[in-house]
This record gives sequence, C-alpha cells and structure tokens, in this order.
Amino acid sequence: MARHRVDAIVIGAGAAGLAAARQLSQAGLTALIVEARDRIGGRIFTIHTPDSAVPIELGAEFVHGEPPETLAIVRAANLILHELPDEHYRWRNGKLLLTPDFWEKLNEVREDISRKTRRKRADFSFSEYLGHTKYAADFRKILVNFVEGYHAADPRKVSARSLIGSDEEEDSSNKQFRIVTGYDAVVHWLKAGLDPDRIELRLNTIASELRWKRGEVVVECASGLGVSLEPFHARAAIVTIPHAVLKAQTLSINPRLDEKQAAVDRLEAGHVFKIALRFRHSFWAEDEFVKARLENRSSQPRALNFIHAEDAEVPVWWTALPARAPILTGWAGGPKAESLLKQDEQTRVEKTLVALSQVLAVPRRDLDDLLESWSMHDWSADPFSRGAYMYISVGSISAQKSLAKPIEGTLFFAGEATDSAEMGTVAGAIASGRRAAHELIEVLPLSKHPRI
Ligand SMILES: Cc1cc2nc3c(=O)[nH]c(=O)nc-3n(C[C@H](O)[C@H](O)[C@H](O)COP(=O)(O)OP(=O)(O)OC[C@H]3O[C@@H](n4cnc5c(N)ncnc54)[C@H](O)[C@@H]3O)c2cc1C
Repeated sequence: MARHRVDAIVIGAGAAGLAAARQLSQAGLTALIVEARDRIGGRIFTIHTPDSAVPIELGAEFVHGEPPETLAIVRAANLILHELPDEHYRWRNGKLLLTPDFWEKLNEVREDISRKTRRKRADFSFSEYLGHTKYAADFRKILVNFVEGYHAADPRKVSARSLIGSDEEEDSSNKQFRIVTGYDAVVHWLKAGLDPDRIELRLNTIASELRWKRGEVVVECASGLGVSLEPFHARAAIVTIPHAVLKAQTLSINPRLDEKQAAVDRLEAGHVFKIALRFRHSFWAEDEFVKARLENRSSQPRALNFIHAEDAEVPVWWTALPARAPILTGWAGGPKAESLLKQDEQTRVEKTLVALSQVLAVPRRDLDDLLESWSMHDWSADPFSRGAYMYISVGSISAQKSLAKPIEGTLFFAGEATDSAEMGTVAGAIASGRRAAHELIEVLPLSKHPRI
C-alpha cells in the first residue's frame, strides 16, 4: 500500500516533529508522522475550558526571549503575544521583596563560570562551582533555586559550563511572553502547513521498533490499545521522541546505535512539578494585599507576577499577568520536583496549598474556600516524555552533539534535547525539527513515490 511506503517517517508530533514534517512537505517529500498520544503537541499541552478566562498550560507556557523560530510563527499565524512584566518578588522571612537586578546578577555569575571553565578547560557541577565561590548564603539560595527551577536540574549533577549558554545563542533578551490564545496555536499552525496529499498524521500510534539499513527503515507500531499494526516503510526516519524516552529504550533501534545510546545516557532528564490553581477571584491583585506583605512597607507595591520562595516546598509562583485572571501557578524543578512527584495527587495539592499559604500569608482555610480547581500533568510518569526537559551533566556537552548527529543518511534526530542553542524550549524543538528535515532533504532526492 502506498501509504505504508513514504520518503520519511517522523516519530513524534510535538513541536520538533511537526516542524520537521512541515519542512518535508514544503520540499515535496512524502511522510508519515506517528504519534503515540491521541493529540499533537507533546510537551505543549494547553487546556481550554469555559471555566477559565485564559488557557491553562500544563506544559510549555512562556516564549523565553525573542527566538526567531517562534516569533516568525506568531507573525504568520496572527497570534497575539502578551509580554510579561519583569517583576520578580522574593519571599524572605515571611515577607515579599522586589529583586530588580536579578538578570544582571545572573549574568555576572555566568561570566564567572565562563572564566573559570575556560581557564581550567574544565567542567564541574554547579554545586562544586558554588563551593569555590564566596557568594553570600542568601544569594546561593537564589542561584540554586534558579538552576533547579529554570533548568529543572539537580545542581549536584548539572554541568556548570552548560549553564553559561552556547556560542550559537544569538538571543540574550530576558523578555518573556505568553501566547494569548495558548501555546497550542503554534503546533496547530505547524500542522496546518502539512500538505494532506503528501503527509499523513497518525495519532494513537506508538512506535516500538525502528529497523534500519542505509536508505531503508521499517517502523513497527502498536495502537493505543496495544494492538500491533502493519509495519510502516520509508527511506529515512526523523526521530523526535524525548531524550528521556530514548534513554529508557522503549523504542528499540536495530541495529543498535551504541554511540548514540552512550550519548543519550550521559544526558539527564530534568523533572518539573507544575500546578495551575484556579480561584474564585484574584485575591492577590489588590495593592493593599501586596502592600501588607512587603518587607519594606514604604516601597510602592507592584502587581504580583513572579514570586521566588526558596524555602517553600513549591518554591516558584506566578500569576497570569498581564491578563487579569484568577489563576496562580506553582512550580518546582529538579530534586524538589522529584520529591513532590513521588507523592500521590492529594498530597501534592496539599503541599502546594501549604506552600501558597506561607508565601502569600493567607490562612489555609481561606485558600480552601477560594479554590475552584487545579490542573497538573505528571511529565515524569508519562511514558511518552519521562521527564520535563533535558539538562547536561558534568563533562557531557559533546554528548548533545552526538545525540543530534544523523546516521548514514537514513536516521535523523530532532527534539529540544538536540538543540544546543535553545535546548529545553519550544523554540529549540522547532529549530531542531527544521535542522533535521534539512539534513534529510539534502541527502534524499525528491520523491518518486505517488502521493499518499
Ligand atoms: C512542565 C513544562 C513546562 C515547560 N515550559 C516551557 C516554557 O515555558 N517555554 C518553553 O519554551 N518550553 C517549555 N517547556 C519545554 C517544551 O515544552 C519542550 O522543549 C518542547 O515542547 C519539546 O518539543 P519536542 O517536539 O522536542 O518534544 P515533545 O513535545 O515531547 O514531542 C515528542 C512527541 O513524541 C511522542 N512520542 C514519544 N514516544 C513515542 C513513540 N514511541 N511513538 C510515537 N510517538 C512518541 C510524544 O507523545 C510527543 O508528542 C516546558 C516543558 C514542560 C514539561
């Protein structure tokens, strides 16, 4: 059957897989996308509910900086971006304190790591790095919370060198945006660009084995119910499943790719606990509410945007600003997330409310009274992600390049983990999908196959 023999099979319909398929479609190739879940988007998972004025993002939420890949889609798809106010409060001794120069201080730390790693041509963990600095205890806490929260990393394992950013990183903007109608608009736009005559997308199709030889691949799949499907044949494959899924080897690749697997094993899966709480009203939005909680009562209160509370079990909080919606999101990354994710759902919610009650100095019973619903997704327990996003362990920067390397003009690799400029982000995933598609297009002559 023609539909089972295409130029390329793309495994995974997240941002990377869809970006790759769109590129193949534009180049006139035929492709089949197999996606394990019953939806596209992968770690972009937007919930639209009539109960909420704004979409709820269980996965990616922010456009970090001004990445050209994402901004080009925002323009092409006529999406609206909300720029977030750059207001970061810290919770200290039960009070809130604005931290206006957070990014400047962070840049100084990055420069220091850069000097130290270059001088010694070495790499070390972030914890080791901290052990050799004279930063005040309070600032250390901020830094650890940032590495755990932003990079979802364990400071004892993460490569300090990887935190300074790669040379390929063009964009150093600290701006952050939200897509007003939800991040899923990006993947829907990518999908809308697939020529239906050339590209087929199959949901509920779990790839279990990828057999290959130069110029030929066979992908064995099962349906969501576990029923084996007829194998799919193609001339090449683009593998976009998350790094942590590759690491678990639930997709077996034959013949084995030992060098690739060794690279995968050296990279770490970052873990994240994210919970969106929907309240009856935004009780935190009044100036008086903020003012009563300021460390410096004489300072001008600013609307609550981000709050960093290193000592709380759920240490990062944000509101929906600039949208005025009664949603608060709690976030923990790295070891704190791992420990929360070991608990059952009720305990996680309980711990979340305890943390929020401390951070906002609101009695627990008031929160219970105001809370309407919560939403979360356990990305670490999900067999199709097995973590939130990748981080690089000590001495493993080169492993990321090995992960991205194509094999014999037949197997190509994409996904956030393969993008050294913007790993861990949607922009990185899109860029990686396009890169892998270009690599494939360069070696694969235009299709002689009939259209699907
Ligand atoms: C909680 C959380 C918050 C985040 N916040 C942000 C943020 O604010 N900003 C940002 O830029 N990024 C954020 N990210 C990261 C961002 O979501 C990812 O980097 C990006 O979406 C990854 O895209 P991808 O295509 O590489 O992988 P995925 O989106 O994971 O796509 C891979 C696809 O492969 C499928 N798959 C897996 N196994 C198989 C199989 N065996 N057969 C077939 N299909 C399979 C999966 O179902 C999935 O659809 C966040 C991630 C998480 C988890």
